[in-house]
Order: sequence, then C-alpha cells, then structure tokens
Amino acid sequence: MVYLENEYWRNLKPYSQISKEDWENWKWQLANRLTSFEDLKKFFSPDEKLKISFLKTADIYHFGTTPYYFSLIKKFSYEDPIFRQIFPSLEELDSNLQKNSYLDPFREEELSPVKGLTHRYPDRVLFRATNFCSVYCRHCMRKRIFLEEERARTKEEYDLMFEYIRENKSIKEVLISGGDPLTLPNKKLEYIIKNLYEIPHVDIIRIGSRELVSNPYRFFDEDLLEIFDKYDKIWLVTHFNHPNEITNITKKVVKNILSTGTPVLNQTVLMKGINDDKFTIEELMRDLLRVKIKPYYLFYADPVEGTLHFRTDLKKGIEIIEHLRGRVSGLATPIYAVDLENGLGKVPVFPNYIVEEGKDYIIFRNYEGKLIKQYK
Ligand SMILES: *Cc1c(COP(=O)(O)O)cnc(C)c1O
Ligand code: SF4
Repeated sequence: MVYLENEYWRNLKPYSQISKEDWENWKWQLANRLTSFEDLKKFFSPDEKLKISFLKTADIYHFGTTPYYFSLIKKFSYEDPIFRQIFPSLEELDSNLQKNSYLDPFREEELSPVKGLTHRYPDRVLFRATNFCSVYCRHCMRKRIFLEEERARTKEEYDLMFEYIRENKSIKEVLISGGDPLTLPNKKLEYIIKNLYEIPHVDIIRIGSRELVSNPYRFFDEDLLEIFDKYDKIWLVTHFNHPNEITNITKKVVKNILSTGTPVLNQTVLMKGINDDKFTIEELMRDLLRVKIKPYYLFYADPVEGTLHFRTDLKKGIEIIEHLRGRVSGLATPIYAVDLENGLGKVPVFPNYIVEEGKDYIIFRNYEGKLIKQYK
C-alpha cells in the first residue's frame, strides 16, 4: 500500500501547476491521459530499447494511461509492476513467446447471441458496453479490443442486448464489462443500469471496472454514487494486481462506494514479473482487506495473443494459495481459477489436502504439512 501526500502530483514536473480541483476530477484524468511517446518524454528519457519497444508495439496495441496511474510508477523500467502493466513491450509481438495464443480464446464474439453479449452460463450474461479504457493494460484478456476503434456501443445496440436479457428469464445476473464501463458518462451508464434494473428476473448487476485502480477519482463523483445507491442490485468487481496500486485514495473511495450499499470485490491475474511471488500476493491480499475489498479470483493468465509472456506455470498459483491458507485470513484468500479455452467456463484449482482415503478413514494434510488421520 502506498501513501500519497496531499497534492503529491506537484512533485512531478509536468504536473507541478495542476490544481487539486483538476487532478481529483475524473474527467480531467480522462481528458489528460498519456497516449503517445511524446507524452512520456516529458517525464523521463527512455533509452533506445524502450523507444523501439514503444514505437513498434504501440502502433499495433495502443498505449494509454491516466496521469494518476502513471504517477504510481516508482521506476521507469519493466521491473516496476505498474510500468510493466502499461508500457508496450516487444514481447507482445514475439511469435515465439505468443505461440498457442488466440485473439479471442473464449470465443466471446462467436458465443454472442446478440452483438456485445456473451451467454456462457445459464444464469449469467456478459454485457460488453464499450471498448474504451482509461488505462490499456498490456495483459488485457480482451486485447483484441485494442485493435478496434475506441468507442462505446450505440443506444440501438444496447436496446437489442436488453431485449435478449428480457426474453431469457434464466438470466439472473448481468456482468457489465468492456473495455471499462465506468469510463462512460453517467447518463449513458445510467441508461444501461436502469434498463437492466427494471428487468424483474435480473437480481445482480455486476460491474467489472478498473477505474478504482486507474482513476479512483471516478468515485468522488456524487452522481455516480447516487446511481449506485438508487439501483441497488449493483456489485463492483475491480482488478488490482500489485500492492503499489493500493493507496490512501483507494481507501477513501472504497468507503464512498460501500456507503451506497455496493460490495467491492477484486480479481487478480497472476503474472510473470509482476506478482508471481507468494509474498507479493500475500501483501496484495492483506492490503485489499485493509481497504475493505474482498479478494474474489486469482486467475491463471489467459492464452490471449499479445499477453502470453506474462503467463506463469499453473503450479505457481497453487503454491501461492498454499502459502496463503492458514497464514492469512480466510477472507484474504481468493479462488485460483483457469478460464478454459473455447468458452467452456472457469475451473477452480486447489492444492490437494486429502493425502489418502481408505474405506473408513481419510488422511488430511494441514497447512503446516502435518498428516492427520480421521475416521469417517
Ligand atoms: C467470467 C465470466 C462469467 C462470471 O463467472 P463467475 O464465476 O460468476 O465470476 C460469466 N460469463 C462469462 C462469459 C465469463 O467470462
Ligand atoms: S482496464 Fe480491463 S478491459 Fe481495459 S485494458 Fe485493462 S484489463 Fe483490459
């Protein structure tokens, strides 16, 4: 967890004149996103290698970050977990490293009964509202959207999506995702939420957003908080990957969100060179609880083209969950899961705690590695 002093951004030269009113305004953060190599050069002098990586890669998979997220970088190198999540790398284009990867491994587009909707499980449907994000994460599971024009869907497209959900009474939950739905203006967002809210069989509106990580000032917006309060079926799922992403601002805004009766959960992606270390994940999970976010999933990195260089061994995640179990609050332990290719669903993966099972006994292994025999 990082403590940001009052008006800390003034220490960054290009932002020394930025007022508190501007910096803490989510729209200012969006309007002042860094998107080009020229933008970055105001902050540091990238060496030749970084320059080539940026120019070659960002031409294909674009670059973008809010000033806030950028300000969390401690060192301008791939060793920095924030830098590594946003700065383009030649690894993204390396066909050897990207072997056996796909633009849409879960066939989300193909499994869409209506454009923008993916219906994989009987009771849940994925609603892709926009392909714009305030920060473009190099590891994005929908990296294919980087290749498209940045835009929200049209009202007509949304209306067709609502119609499908209205007609399918087995759908109890709608996951609004993107891109990032909370980059939409309040009016457009409310249009979506209101329409879903009014469908009687929809019990849960789950918003998947990274704005809490990349632009937390979004949740200073009273109108947004009012929407959360009014349409009380909303759950927020966010995406923190490293303790350096959690700040005192996070804590402050999570409190705002919780005050509207909206639970906040987190999904982390396990990634090489960012968080593939049990102590880093332990710290992340503890920090999440400190700011009152419940860890939900830890994902094995998906086989998405342009992101495979982040993938670890499957075993790495099992080791991490083993490390957490017994040492860290059960509240802090996420479900480790693999999303199966071709849209076949998510599968939880656990360490094995049953060592042997006989006719009338079971031998368990506890978190210290002790074997305990119990009769059935
Ligand atoms: C991940 C996902 C869900 C939600 O799964 P949960 O296990 O409920 O979090 C639903 N639909 C699609 C298409 C998904 O990819
Ligand atoms: S914010 Fe989410 S959808 Fe957008 S690039 Fe990052 S991971 Fe992908």
